[in-house]
Amino acid sequence: MREIRHWIDGAAVAGTSGRQLPVWDPATGEQQAYVVAATAAETAHAVAAAKAAFPSWRAASLSRRAEVMFRFRELVDANRKEIASLVSQEHGKTVADAGGELARGLENIEFAAGAPHLLKGGYSEQASTGVDVYSIRQPLGVVAGITPFNFPAMVPMWMFCNALVCGNTFVLKPSEKDPSVSLLLADLLRQAGLPDGAFNVVQGDREAVETLIDHPDVQALSFVGSTPIARHIYQTASGKGKRVQALGGAKNHMVVLPDADVGAAADAAVSAGYGSAGERCMAVSVVVAVGAVGDPLVAAIKDRIARIAVGPASDPAAEMGPLISREHRDKVAGYLAGAGGAEVVVDGRDAPISESPGFFLGASLVDKVPTDSPLYTDEIFGPVLSVVRTDTYEQALELVNKNEYGNGTAIFTRDGGAARRFQYDVNCGMVGVNVPVPVPVAYYSFGGWKSSLFGDLHMYGPEGLQFYTRSKVVTARWPDPASSTVDLGFPEVR
Ligand code: NAD
Repeated sequence: MREIRHWIDGAAVAGTSGRQLPVWDPATGEQQAYVVAATAAETAHAVAAAKAAFPSWRAASLSRRAEVMFRFRELVDANRKEIASLVSQEHGKTVADAGGELARGLENIEFAAGAPHLLKGGYSEQASTGVDVYSIRQPLGVVAGITPFNFPAMVPMWMFCNALVCGNTFVLKPSEKDPSVSLLLADLLRQAGLPDGAFNVVQGDREAVETLIDHPDVQALSFVGSTPIARHIYQTASGKGKRVQALGGAKNHMVVLPDADVGAAADAAVSAGYGSAGERCMAVSVVVAVGAVGDPLVAAIKDRIARIAVGPASDPAAEMGPLISREHRDKVAGYLAGAGGAEVVVDGRDAPISESPGFFLGASLVDKVPTDSPLYTDEIFGPVLSVVRTDTYEQALELVNKNEYGNGTAIFTRDGGAARRFQYDVNCGMVGVNVPVPVPVAYYSFGGWKSSLFGDLHMYGPEGLQFYTRSKVVTARWPDPASSTVDLGFPEVR
């Protein structure tokens, strides 16, 4: 069986712990490879390699660092097919969906290649007589990223492109469920001219993560994953004085007002609810149907579900693939079994593909979901769309705002005033107006509110550059020796 190795100091390295973690093929249900979970010593080795690479990478000119990003962009673009098929082989999403993930990743490389423009500081001439004040931004040192299974290429790119272009060196701990693509990206970075040690990958789980949290040479941690782990990482790592941004789970509501175009809203709900089998942190998992739109909307969604082609990524006709693991598929199916008073309109367990040995579950729709049901309160992270009915816009808004999570939300309406009011009132970090999955473009930043993000700065875009640099303010005087005097008073500017 194939071992997926670590990447330390510019080369793939076999693991030594003997603790094997399986990598499944979600489409067949069979194990296809394994990683050997990194020990504390192996993780520390990667940190040491990153630390050793930092002084020279930091000293590389901004244009040199940007040039590496340009080259990396070209290499990722040239290898799109290979990367996308590797993602779909381990994750299970369709190759087209993996290609979409990669396209959003490319945006982040492009943004990083233009980062020198945004790394300019401020300059105040003559802040005092003969004194100038200016600010500069400097890299932090060794920074680490811990990433989830659902976007094994894009989410690491959210982090390391900006981190590297700012002059940091990086240790990535990817998801143990689909780890191969991280090695391919590491090799492309090497081919792009990134020096050895500037980017490292440690495979593994909690042990590697705890080592990164505890390690005194790791200056900052970026995390994307579920809320309990995000909260834990934020609390422990920030308690050790590290800079942390920890993005957690979500329960994204799509509010549909009575004046919305029912067909367009149903198309959006189906695309955003079942794309990538619902395993997206920006997936729509709750449709809030306001007033009379409920019945026609549920009927239109049901109609569209019947036409979704579920199958393995190897089938070019497939639109929705399997879930990531057997346990996860069973857990998601359990929500349908325990639907209680809610109305199961389409039960994905009845889809013929659900009988296959792969981790499949058909698209599912549950209507009239009570807000105290686990279908509503839990992040299900699967192809289960819940519909909650409300009588008014105010009730819909209150629902979104009371929810524990605040990642993304969307409103579907033809009323510009209502949409503007929603954008103003809603407590979520990312809002779509007739756009169901409002993932910001790379030159804005990505982040939720409430239990969807712990930390101060959102990920990627301008806030990503802020996260990976710290500012220094220089106050400088170049006195004319002819006018120099001793003055023991406190420096004043006026
Ligand atoms: P997860 O929290 O199980 O794992 C994420 C990472 O943390 C992995 O690398 C994993 O190895 C590591 N990890 C797991 N348990 C740990 C522990 N006890 N201590 C330290 N590290 C640990 O998440 P997942 O199942 O891989 O991904 C799905 C979750 O990620 C969903 O909740 C989804 O909403 C969330 N997500 C959020 C965003 C966002 O931007 N907010 C984006 C993608 C995914």
